[in-house]
Amino acid sequence: MIRSVVIVGGGTAGWMTASYLKAAFGERVDVTLVESAQVSRIGVGEATFSTLRHFFDYLGLDEAEWLPKCAGGYKLGIRFENWSAPGEYFYHPFERLRVVDGFSLADWWLRLGDRNRPFDRECFVTTALCEAKRSPRMMDGSLFVAGLDGSLGRSTLAEQRAQFPYAYHFDADAVARFLADYAVERGVRHVIDNVAHIGQDERGWISHVRTEAHGDLTGDLFVDCTGFRGLLINQTLGGEFISFQDVLPNNRAVALRVPRDEVTEMNPYTTAAAASAGWIWTIPLFRRNGNGYVYSDEFITPEQAERELREAVAPGRDDLPANHIRMRIGRNQESWINNCVAVGLSSAFVEPLESTGIFFIQHAIEQLVKYFPDERWDPTLRREWNRRVAHAVDGVKEFLVLHYRSARREDTPYWKEAKVRTMPDALAARLELAGSVLLDEETVYPHFHGFEPYSWNTMNLGLGNVPAAPRPALEHIDPAAARAEFARVRADAAAMVAALPSCYEYLAAING
Ligand SMILES: Cc1cc2nc3c(=O)[nH]c(=O)nc-3n(C[C@H](O)[C@H](O)[C@H](O)COP(=O)(O)OP(=O)(O)OC[C@H]3O[C@@H](n4cnc5c(N)ncnc54)[C@H](O)[C@@H]3O)c2cc1C
Repeated sequence: MIRSVVIVGGGTAGWMTASYLKAAFGERVDVTLVESAQVSRIGVGEATFSTLRHFFDYLGLDEAEWLPKCAGGYKLGIRFENWSAPGEYFYHPFERLRVVDGFSLADWWLRLGDRNRPFDRECFVTTALCEAKRSPRMMDGSLFVAGLDGSLGRSTLAEQRAQFPYAYHFDADAVARFLADYAVERGVRHVIDNVAHIGQDERGWISHVRTEAHGDLTGDLFVDCTGFRGLLINQTLGGEFISFQDVLPNNRAVALRVPRDEVTEMNPYTTAAAASAGWIWTIPLFRRNGNGYVYSDEFITPEQAERELREAVAPGRDDLPANHIRMRIGRNQESWINNCVAVGLSSAFVEPLESTGIFFIQHAIEQLVKYFPDERWDPTLRREWNRRVAHAVDGVKEFLVLHYRSARREDTPYWKEAKVRTMPDALAARLELAGSVLLDEETVYPHFHGFEPYSWNTMNLGLGNVPAAPRPALEHIDPAAARAEFARVRADAAAMVAALPSCYEYLAAING
């Protein structure tokens, strides 16, 4: 039986893993987490994915309890600005497309819609809430979508049947601290120390981690949460890292924390605004914005990036310190080797677009619980975990490459290059198909990676990669039901906007 787990690293990955293992296995498994006081956390990672509610529900944590402690806010989707032309924008919301007579509303929009009106505001309700900066919850705490509220209990990503309508923005450091308290209260041993050496037995399996002041920490299973350095998985076990740089060139970021002057208003969405050599994020937290420029240093220097970021989001605020970050883009060939599992940045990262870093952590931990080994160390469990983790990352990689390939913008060397850079063959085939028809379950990346066909279609349509013509079949179907559905979307949106409080108003209330 595997009785003890040692986690190295106390960033979001380390503390999410520690708290989840405690929630799953309680006292049956001892968990020790060691983190260095000298090596700081990455300190960004503030926008999330709608599936994160499963994680907190699994831990038995109520949103009203943890969200205010983490400077949190709501994210109804991502607003993409300037990806095709200056001033243009669209939303990628957490909302599935409605279906009429077997065809999605996006199909019907291609047939019936006013091409001068953005498709996202015709087909989704959530986009109206974004425009009106509404909270997804009424002042009494109820959700704007019926039937999705209430705790999901110990459910996992696999149980996500309906699309939950929002994710969170939060201070990632505060979340790590909050989860540390949760985990320690439930028995996780917390060691603050530097790991100076990793001990291995004659087979090459990890036997212990040697700390500077607390001696050797031994365990059965070791979890590498040491961030981009991959201290156990790469540096010690020699795990191969597959770079995605050939298709996703952004390898650096510069981040700023910007106090908000206007404190009575808050966007309930992340903004991703295309810039000269990448894109700039704006993540509204309760009292400040997190901003950052993700770029490729093949095209601009860190100094140029910092200047462009400051001009865009904090003009005149040269006092705000900038955090320059080098990113390792790609994934390990195998993130589970012998008795070591890597979770977080030590495992994989595909750049922050679409906010998938924390989602990958959640997915990897859930799968770890499902494929948890015993003393036989059945290699099939390890292989299956590796396969699933790799698929999730590879699917997101494809989806992100689509963003750059489908964007119409071509005004700088960076954006020109984005159109001719190599791309995965499977994606090339998918994009060719998308030039004629919208994608569906059969034609998007075929393994679980968090994104459904509606997301792939929303990005293609929003970025301007629109099928040349509507589906011919729709010529033969009475459009009355589709027209009625478009009218319902408009009516539902108007009713929600009228009924819901502003995002700021609601959060101010739960923040006391
Ligand atoms: C620019 C950028 C933007 C991002 N934006 C998002 C986003 O919007 N949404 C999202 O979901 N994700 C985002 N991410 C990803 C997200 O930040 C990470 O997935 C998440 O923070 C997890 O990081 P981590 O815990 O793996 O690593 P880290 O935060 O780097 O933590 C590493 C830990 O290892 C410890 N450590 C290292 N060496 C030693 C040692 N020798 N001894 C002891 N301890 C050691 C450190 O002390 C630290 O506690 C972003 C990442 C980057 C780079």
